[in-house]
Amino acid sequence: MKIAIAKEIQVDERRVALVPDVAARLVKQGIEVWIEAGAGERAFFSDATYEEVGVKVIGDTATLWRDADIVLKVGNFEDHETEKLREGSILIAFLNPLGNPSLVQKLSERKVTAFSMEMIPRTSRAQSMDALSSQANLAGYKSVLIAAATLPKYFPMLTTAAGTIRPAKVLVMGAGVAGLQAIATARRLGAVVEAFDVRPEVKEQVQSLGAKFVDVTLEEDTVAEGGYAKELSEKAKQHTREVLTTHVAASDVVITTAQVPGRKAPVLVTEEMVTQMKPGSVVVDLAASQGGNCECTEAGKDVLKHGVTIVGPINLPSSMPLHASEVYAKNLNALLKLMTTPEGELTLNFEDDIIDGACVTHNGEIRSQRVKDALG
Ligand code: NAD
Repeated sequence: MKIAIAKEIQVDERRVALVPDVAARLVKQGIEVWIEAGAGERAFFSDATYEEVGVKVIGDTATLWRDADIVLKVGNFEDHETEKLREGSILIAFLNPLGNPSLVQKLSERKVTAFSMEMIPRTSRAQSMDALSSQANLAGYKSVLIAAATLPKYFPMLTTAAGTIRPAKVLVMGAGVAGLQAIATARRLGAVVEAFDVRPEVKEQVQSLGAKFVDVTLEEDTVAEGGYAKELSEKAKQHTREVLTTHVAASDVVITTAQVPGRKAPVLVTEEMVTQMKPGSVVVDLAASQGGNCECTEAGKDVLKHGVTIVGPINLPSSMPLHASEVYAKNLNALLKLMTTPEGELTLNFEDDIIDGACVTHNGEIRSQRVKDALG
């Protein structure tokens, strides 16, 4: 069996799907591993480091995509890439199936068996394959570093000969994987941290990280299937904004991470709320590419509005490509283990809930009802 590591072609994507250490494990299993020349370079893995562990470097992109049994990629597809895939081959990547259902349609027309890393079930058994979590962790960490570097103040409390500096106040909205990492990172830098989420069960996790949970009592069910948040009613959204307004105004830094799968991100920070923040305050909006949690966010830009800097990063994991690639590669390796025998032969068991849940196209069919619904 041949597994190919494709090169990311988007300029702002620096990650690579497999790192040499993980590729070496597949080679030991008897699998032939190919890498497109230069695919690891922007993550600081040279072609030579792959060759040292027995990976073959392929210069011709078309050959790599056509002859591989499994193609591995991070994501961010351009239309022409999928045209290079051979019928019956397997593709594993972030496919953004709900945001880009037409890509899934093309893959099904080409009779490719496509696995979407976003669709790996969020279960304990699938934890080692959960690339959404591994990448969200990096984003949560980096969001705080960006905030600290942008804020015209210290984060920690300092007692110096020149006087006492009060610690920065950080508010984290959305305490999922990225939010919890943001809380932990802001605490390590010495900030006083508050956090809010519509899912009440995260309260204890927030408190265990040393942050205060902002209680916004909502009179509706806020948790959907799979433990994700539900979209709130208009009344609940209004109530949430009223409670949060004073907390936003008192914060030096607001980090927003709130998302509802398959929907535009909820607006949690209105422009009116931004006007009430202190000059020099910072908002880092991790939902920028899903429409933003802040009304003033512009995806991919830093904007200064009402004296507040609003940062809208679009791919933070790519800004830490070495570790982002390493953990993504480990997620892929865990998934590949489920699909291969110890001797390196392919074995797809659609009775397995992880294979079943992550596979979006097979034998010319779109397998996910949610993707079919998104196509309309
Ligand atoms: P996500 O990226 O979809 O959302 C981020 C956070 O935003 C979530 O905590 C969500 O509740 C919150 N949110 C949504 N709307 C909001 C609003 N209007 N106001 C405030 N907050 C709002 O979620 P995620 O971080 O990928 O994961 C969240 C869920 O998945 C959690 O239940 C988590 O425990 C679960 N999970 C489970 C596993 C596992 O069991 N293996 C692994 C990872 C995550």
